[in-house]
Amino acid sequence: RAKHDGKNAVRTYSAGMGDETAARMDLERDLREALRNGEFVLHYQGQFDVASGALSGYEALVRWQHPVHGMIAPGRFIPVAEDSGLIGPLGTWVLREACRQARAWRADERGLTMSVNVSPVQFDTADFARLVQEALEEAGIRPECLMLELTESTVLRDVASATQQLQRLRALGVRIALDDFGTGQSALSLLRHIPIDQLKIDRSFLPGPDDTDESAQVFLRLLVMLGQARRLNVVAEGVENAEHQALLREMGCPTAQGFYLSRPLPAHQATALLPQIAAPAARAAPELHMAS
Ligand code: C2E
Ligand code: MG
Ligand code: MG
Ligand code: MG
Repeated sequence: RAKHDGKNAVRTYSAGMGDETAARMDLERDLREALRNGEFVLHYQGQFDVASGALSGYEALVRWQHPVHGMIAPGRFIPVAEDSGLIGPLGTWVLREACRQARAWRADERGLTMSVNVSPVQFDTADFARLVQEALEEAGIRPECLMLELTESTVLRDVASATQQLQRLRALGVRIALDDFGTGQSALSLLRHIPIDQLKIDRSFLPGPDDTDESAQVFLRLLVMLGQARRLNVVAEGVENAEHQALLREMGCPTAQGFYLSRPLPAHQATALLPQIAAPAARAAPELHMAS
């Protein structure tokens, strides 16, 4: 998994340096410079209503457009940014840029959400709610449009203070998603009470070629039901083929995201997904849309 690749990434990033510490300092310095030079870009992956196929939102995913090494995935630099404190300014840039793009797409008027990943380091900052509010005001978008994605581990580090922070954020009107659900610890007790709006089921729960018995499907179904029991919007991540999509439809999972539906795309390409938004009539009565 990308999140555990941090150390290797540092080693391979400047292979030949020999010294891991030197390589890491190199990477930190380059990250700092990259932020100044505007080398970070956001790609956007569509999220789709399973029943109607309509576009329901986008997730913003950061990439580093390195002048020498080309496009670098977040799993390779986010851990270093977190350890070095750079995640603060980087995370704020991501937030502002995603809100700006949401505005450009008139996402709030169209009823689309813009999802933004939030690092535990950002989330634990005292002024995070203020930064979120400033990004919303600067972009001029309605708070309901913004979905902040957190992982279970972010919340579990200190459930009481995390709950306070979540309440502060929701008081602004923004929404909260629990990302990669099912991969952390003690997920079930957490899910019962924390104030969130969306549950993103980790892609590891979608059946793969090795899942020959029914247990994979049972687990997926159970997670969808758990989310729905709490009246959360449930999103299945990692939808990679028509079988996944059919399974989700059959289970009544409302929302899907994955390479089969759309890859993460640069903004100008992701714009091309906008016509896939539901027409107002179809939104009110999705079964009519399905029949067409
Ligand atoms: P995530 O938030 O769970 O994002 C989903 C990841 O799964 C993305 O990888 C996406 O490209 C990938 N993905 C989407 N559909 C499929 C699929 O059908 N199959 C497979 N195998 N993968 C799929 P990406 O962009 O490399 O991001 C990895 C992780 O890095 C994200 O996981 C998130 O935790 C983190 N990340 C990305 N952008 C940001 C950011 O702006 N801030 C922070 N703090 N973390 C970020
Ligand atoms: Mg995410
Ligand atoms: Mg995820
Ligand atoms: Mg993930």
